[in-house]
Amino acid sequence: MSFSSLPLEVLVQVLSYLTPTDIVKANRTCKSFYSASRVTKLWKTVCDKEHNVTVEQIGSSSFEDFYTKVLHHYGQTLGLWQMQIEHYGGLLSVKVVNGEIIATQLLPPIDPEVWMPFKRKDLFKISVDSEGKTEVNCLQGSGGPHKIEIMKGNSSNQFSVQCKQPEKHSKSKNREEKFASWIRDEVGIPPEHGVQGYQMELLKIKYLSIQQYESSCSFTCLQPINSLSNVPIQPGLFKGTYGGHGVEVIQLTYEGNRLHGTKVSGDPNVPAGKRSIIVHLDEPLVLNREQQRDLNSIKQLQNEGCSLPEGQEAPARQPFSIPFGIEDRGFVQLCEQKDIPTDFCRARYFGTGLIAMHGFRNSSRTDCHLVIFDEDVFAFLWMELGSLSVYSRADDFL
Ligand SMILES: [Zn+2]
Repeated sequence: MSFSSLPLEVLVQVLSYLTPTDIVKANRTCKSFYSASRVTKLWKTVCDKEHNVTVEQIGSSSFEDFYTKVLHHYGQTLGLWQMQIEHYGGLLSVKVVNGEIIATQLLPPIDPEVWMPFKRKDLFKISVDSEGKTEVNCLQGSGGPHKIEIMKGNSSNQFSVQCKQPEKHSKSKNREEKFASWIRDEVGIPPEHGVQGYQMELLKIKYLSIQQYESSCSFTCLQPINSLSNVPIQPGLFKGTYGGHGVEVIQLTYEGNRLHGTKVSGDPNVPAGKRSIIVHLDEPLVLNREQQRDLNSIKQLQNEGCSLPEGQEAPARQPFSIPFGIEDRGFVQLCEQKDIPTDFCRARYFGTGLIAMHGFRNSSRTDCHLVIFDEDVFAFLWMELGSLSVYSRADDFL
């Protein structure tokens, strides 16, 4: 019996068990396989199986074209990536929209609005042009899309890009105007209105540093995180307030009885990739209001030991107050936005936070408390800094 005597549906079924590369090889072997390999359903299955790409994402494009010309070569860029920008890091989301692969940088909202969505900036796209050719385009600068090269890294969890016409990035407006508009995006107000001396210094350093990465940048995969049972708060990405450095993104992960918050975006003091937060899950705390009256009363507890006696379960709800003299970095505003009471929390743990001087000099871990309010909101009390940072789950990257 030859393959040509089989009905088309059966041949499509046979091909659907092969890898996409083998499908292309098979369609060269005989006419029947060729016909079967042109069936839309087959490529729809391949797109879905290999990269979870759906009809809605493909739009009016052809599945076969999109797979063979775009996904096959560039499918591994899909997902969430950490940008390798010195000190500052960053978050990149690559997905399929309307039959194109689009890479979008997700920038944190202005300080302290951690409840707001990311600001989005499209960096490059991969598509099929009207003549059926694959196009890889840089979307930065002015003068429209222009060529960019995507290079695979040493392993599948890395890649990098190199713009072929970087002069298009600087041409646009005059430099001062460009800087002013960047500051407005970064802090929400024009530079002439209230950007203070030290903050202005930080902004200038950041602007000059990140500009170097506009035409070439590397990316490292952020592994997807699965939900866990019996944890005080689910792992994942959070937006948090870091004072003069603005809002930064951290990734919460669990390792034994430690909860880690690693910076996805960072600053020249504590750069991206460093472990901002370490929480000791074996040291739950329960404090009454008097004990959190001010910093001294909390520090005193630290020396006496205020951990819950072993074997005793922490209550589902306990009092919380901001100690007198502690700078609130957005807690009251966040609770208002999320409709969360400010005077009770769900759990509290002892932990340490990473602090350092500019350039990550003299880094040290300092005593802190993690305070959980609900599944999406927690605060971090930096005792040595005298401040309370707040964190809100970042779930708007999908
Ligand atoms: Zn470019």
